[in-house]
Amino acid sequence: MMYDFSQFEKDLLFFNLKLDDRQKEQFALFYDLLKEWNSFMNLTAITEWDDVLKKHFLDSLSIVRAVNDIRFSEWTVIDVGTGAGFPGIPLKIVFPELRLTLLDSLQKRLHFLDAVIEKLDLKDVQTVHGRAEDLARTAGMREQYDLCVSRAVANLSTLSELCLPFVKQGGAFVSYKAEKSGQEAEAAVGAFHLLGGSLESGCTFSLPDSNLTRTLFVIRKKKKTPEKYPRKAGIPGKQPL
Ligand code: SAM
Repeated sequence: MMYDFSQFEKDLLFFNLKLDDRQKEQFALFYDLLKEWNSFMNLTAITEWDDVLKKHFLDSLSIVRAVNDIRFSEWTVIDVGTGAGFPGIPLKIVFPELRLTLLDSLQKRLHFLDAVIEKLDLKDVQTVHGRAEDLARTAGMREQYDLCVSRAVANLSTLSELCLPFVKQGGAFVSYKAEKSGQEAEAAVGAFHLLGGSLESGCTFSLPDSNLTRTLFVIRKKKKTPEKYPRKAGIPGKQPL
């Protein structure tokens, strides 16, 4: 199937990004798999080509507004609560040097992602099944990542307890949030500090040619996370720090 990339390519220029033919092919293959698997499992409510391009692919890539260096890096990146692969898979397609871990507690979504990784022939990507609270306590994953990303998983206090333990000192956690999340960020400042992090920036912008707005928060890992965090699975959600 031939897909029209013209609007997507125009939108990407807003972020100073360009696609080669191989990357366009990978996005098309990803879309085909998303549509196919979505017919028998719950992956996304967004299924039209133009909407997927804007609300999933472009939105995932908008991270360059907050961490521009991602375009030149070979960072280890973990996507916590990746679901159908957002933002992780679009980031890997456009920045192939990243070493990516896709984490989710729902095994069947990871089966979908394994099929995506194989079909798109993505290298240096692994899927990991489990709760972030449990996996962040394992030696192989705790404080091992240059960057942790997460979109649409939990409020910022909860999320920082799930995400900051994965990040190396000096690395960052970037949270994709809705436009009006200033209060949520204020409420989470104490949690960032308890976990060894500090709010570095928050930027709000519109996605090009749309009325969709996005806020990205960058939380820098300044110190090691104390061993008692994250607390037992479920507690960060029920009793945010
Ligand atoms: N990030 C994707 C996106 O933006 O489209 C998926 C968002 S979906 C609403 C939330 C995902 O987070 C689900 O796939 C769920 O299984 C996963 N999740 C929620 N809590 C989690 C936890 N504690 N550990 C690991 N995964 C979790």
